[in-house]
Amino acid sequence: MIKHVIFLVLISLFGQNAFSQTKHSYRSPLNIPLAISANFGELRPNHFHMGVDFKTNGVEGLTLYAVEDGFISRVKVSPFGYGKVIYIDHPNGVTSVYAHCSAFKGKLDSLVKMTQEKEQNFEVEIYFTEKDLPVKKGDAIALSGNTGSSTAPHLHFELRDTKTEDALNPLLYGFEIADHKAPEIRGIKVYSLTNEGYQIPGKSKYVKVTKGQFGYYVGGDLISIPSDFNTLLGGIGFAVEVVDFIDGSTNTCGLYGSVFSAERDTAFCQEIKRVSFDDTRYINSHKDYVEYTVNKRKFHKSFKTDENPLDIYSCSHNNGVIPVKPGDTLAIHYKGFDLKGNKSELKFKAAIQPGAANQTTSIFPSWKYFFPDSSYHFQNDQVEFEVKALTFYEPTLKNLSLKGTYSLGDPKTPIQQEITVKLKSPTKPTAKNYLAVSTAGGRLKPLATSIEGDWLTAESMYLGSFSIKTDTLAPTVAPLNFKETDLATAKKRLTWKVLESQTMLVDYDLFIDGKWVLLEYEEKSNYVFYDRTKNMTGTHELLLIAKDRCGNVKEWRKKITFQ
Ligand SMILES: [Zn+2]
Repeated sequence: MIKHVIFLVLISLFGQNAFSQTKHSYRSPLNIPLAISANFGELRPNHFHMGVDFKTNGVEGLTLYAVEDGFISRVKVSPFGYGKVIYIDHPNGVTSVYAHCSAFKGKLDSLVKMTQEKEQNFEVEIYFTEKDLPVKKGDAIALSGNTGSSTAPHLHFELRDTKTEDALNPLLYGFEIADHKAPEIRGIKVYSLTNEGYQIPGKSKYVKVTKGQFGYYVGGDLISIPSDFNTLLGGIGFAVEVVDFIDGSTNTCGLYGSVFSAERDTAFCQEIKRVSFDDTRYINSHKDYVEYTVNKRKFHKSFKTDENPLDIYSCSHNNGVIPVKPGDTLAIHYKGFDLKGNKSELKFKAAIQPGAANQTTSIFPSWKYFFPDSSYHFQNDQVEFEVKALTFYEPTLKNLSLKGTYSLGDPKTPIQQEITVKLKSPTKPTAKNYLAVSTAGGRLKPLATSIEGDWLTAESMYLGSFSIKTDTLAPTVAPLNFKETDLATAKKRLTWKVLESQTMLVDYDLFIDGKWVLLEYEEKSNYVFYDRTKNMTGTHELLLIAKDRCGNVKEWRKKITFQ
């Protein structure tokens, strides 16, 4: 096995050299020195960070440039997610993505505005062919911004494989960022596991990792592991709490790569070069989900479940599950590294205490647990639950109730795909009714609901208890940068706060003298705004209409003089 280890190390060293020496012709999307506030693969809620965040000096409005020749293949405007975003397809089979823009430039800007006007909708998505909007490397395409789910001005930049749409690590393609800082190891956890890589409930142990004069260590260079972590069905596995840093920034970054070895056998390796959008949610299986959500600790597991399809594991021996016996002592060697070859290491002995192994033959009885590889269907005259295979990451307590209250699983447990929920209404349901799920924080989450006969149907990304609710309240609309009583204004931009308390704002339109004008919406801060054009002066009749998902409508009217 030692040859195997050396071979792997050589590959990764050669790999890194090859990458830094390969000539890539991309130019920078910005005309300021490139600095990042987040790298590719950083652990986020329900997804890996699929690009890099380039700093924009803390401001909006910097010109964004096409990084290579190609054509604009797609553009989208949304109050959520990427906000205003441009996709450019390049002849080399790579697509570059520029998100959270504040505005588009040139012909693209007029095409988007034309489509918005035609569809009378702020939210549009347009696909283009090669002939529509060709671009040359260095063409100005947009202005940087803070739209969508962005919480501070920056450019979220991605490279994608055009064919598969897999996100590629942009720092492997010639975007140079100075980095002399090695990853920082903060803690380690050991788990009792089944052969499938499932965690055995209640059997894990956290050990703090300290940085000393001679590198990282755990107390006594030894982790003592209870004898019953050893099972007849699997073994043990480790996760490492580790973050990375780059020069000139205090932001933590995500880990690029790692090699985990037990007794000279390489058990598990990570190298985050590409992530598919279909798989990115498997981050909930890759990280220690409870540590992340409860303790804000970023653990990367050095083992995986059978179902985890992520393409970031460059080696996986037996899923990283290490078989052990009571009394065994293993020499453990962990190495975490970044793209520039900066690395941090941790070595210790893992000692399985002598004593009885966990003899339980059925850790997860099927009457009590759901399993990741199975599908489920429950139905009576009041409720129906439909669960597809590959919904759960781990064996999951059923917590099923089909009478009186309707629940399935625990709201704290993440799932990979939506479950279908159908509830029968005791009275004839109307468009004002919707299904809601109680979330981990105790909040009610409204679900997009369809109604057929007496039945309400919704897809839910949350487990928990489900109920039928009624929304008869319209959104509220209130001027934000002017007063309800103003008769005139010199403001070029008018903003309103629009709040929907129960369900979701689905429609928002502004009419001036009966004519639709563009009203932009920022979901994260619950406001809409109108930028008036130069020739919009004099006295006008404004009508703002806000509608929620249950069809409750608020009409806000005002006569105002634009000065
Ligand atoms: Zn980002």
